Amino acid sequence: MTMADFDPDSVEIPCGHFIGGKLVREDGPTISVRRPSDNRIYAELPIGDAAVVDHAVQNAGKAQETSGWATQPPRERARAMKRWADLIDAEVESLGRLEALGSTRPIMQAIAVDVASTAEGLRFFAEYADKLGGEVAATRSDNLGLVVSEPYGVVGAITPWNFPLSMASWKAGPALAAGNAIVIKPSEMTPFSTVRFAQLAIEAGIPAGIVNVVQGTGAVTGDALVRHPLIGKISFTGSTRTGAAIMAASAASGVKPVTLELGGKSPQLVFADAQSLAKTAERAAASILGNAGQVCVAGSRLIVQRQARDEMIERLLDLFAAPRPGPTWSSATTFSPIISTPQADRIDDIVRRSMASGASALTGGRRLSAIQDGAFYEPTILSDVSVETPAVREEIFGPVLTVQSFEDEEEGLALADHPDYGLAAGVHTADINKALRAVRRLKAGTVWVNRYGRTLDFILPTGGYKRSGVGKDLGRQAVEANLRHKSVLIDFAA
Ligand code: ADP
Repeated sequence: MTMADFDPDSVEIPCGHFIGGKLVREDGPTISVRRPSDNRIYAELPIGDAAVVDHAVQNAGKAQETSGWATQPPRERARAMKRWADLIDAEVESLGRLEALGSTRPIMQAIAVDVASTAEGLRFFAEYADKLGGEVAATRSDNLGLVVSEPYGVVGAITPWNFPLSMASWKAGPALAAGNAIVIKPSEMTPFSTVRFAQLAIEAGIPAGIVNVVQGTGAVTGDALVRHPLIGKISFTGSTRTGAAIMAASAASGVKPVTLELGGKSPQLVFADAQSLAKTAERAAASILGNAGQVCVAGSRLIVQRQARDEMIERLLDLFAAPRPGPTWSSATTFSPIISTPQADRIDDIVRRSMASGASALTGGRRLSAIQDGAFYEPTILSDVSVETPAVREEIFGPVLTVQSFEDEEEGLALADHPDYGLAAGVHTADINKALRAVRRLKAGTVWVNRYGRTLDFILPTGGYKRSGVGKDLGRQAVEANLRHKSVLIDFAA
């Protein structure tokens, strides 16, 4: 045991909704919550119905209007958000345990990455609070035209299960910096770290009612949140199918603006002149094995120039043998469980259908023999695939990499393009001109050159082209999406 190992039965669970600064739990229907690492039920989550959602949103609306959150000097808002970040840092271990227990995040990563970047993301957004001035418009000289930025009031956020804390901070940070209150509905599979996150906001001095959490399923609680008339804007991260349903529900319930960060099938385009195939292979492996591929920007399609193919595959086979699967509460674990048994079955189904259509597994291709009944999937590389292969076409959200090869730049770029998705792409080449040509051509919201994956550069917005989404998380764009603009024209002619 190292310091980071923990007993999963010893973690305190804040089980309930968090409304108006209080943990709320009423009698009513519940849903069982399982630990992905061993499939054990560890809590019964209340399912918030339309009345619970109404209570949370009304309360948030009142707090946003009366608590001074939006009207105080904006630097005060920034200061409170930074105190919040400090409290999160101070609780890194217990918050890390809560995150690791219920999600797929191994404890070492939960501590070093998830909790740390959650706090840092809030600090990044806090700094926008007093930098959101509007514009003076060009009008005739005896008129003054102003474009004034205003918060929506209450923002609704719906988050997925893969990075519960980070996703909550990506939504709450820009919403709060802009002066809104927020009601977050976390995934019913990973509901609890978001409650602690919200409790810490209030402990940091953010007024009660500004950060709220409603628990429950997407169909009941999420849908009620999207449709609530007081919600000014919706921010969602999750699957393309659910994103489309949310867009339709927002349209039907008041034409609310939506930010949707959706699925991906991101290519890693590797040219034979990449500066180091060793490093490129490491990046490619990390991008699909991190969180066992349960990452929206996972680099799931390796597209490698013919001359570099054999070396890349040889290196990848070594790297794919290295991850250590295990329960998220062990500090030795480097490879995540799959969030649920049905999700592991889904991964396996796509792999099976791909093999039936001619793909072959260079490694993996099966469920990993059960570790304490958790659902794990073998790190998998599929070759002999084409654009028609299910594993190339469909988002898998598992540790499955497909390999395609190409002769020349044109063919590589054509293969990189996906008919539906455009979330992210990687390009690996030492030729700057070739890299820049690829950057121009790739239809993706993020392009990484000679690296892959996010850094703490929150200034870079993230979001998709095509069916990978609408609008952006992170960056100035995320803050602006949490504001609406009022035009003011003042006539002061004599
Ligand atoms: P997954 O299928 O991988 O769980 P989803 O996109 O369905 O991904 O889920 C992401 C989030 O969206 C979760 O919090 C889920 O509860 C919520 N959700 C699912 N369906 C709906 C819906 N119809 N309306 C609102 N939220 C939903």
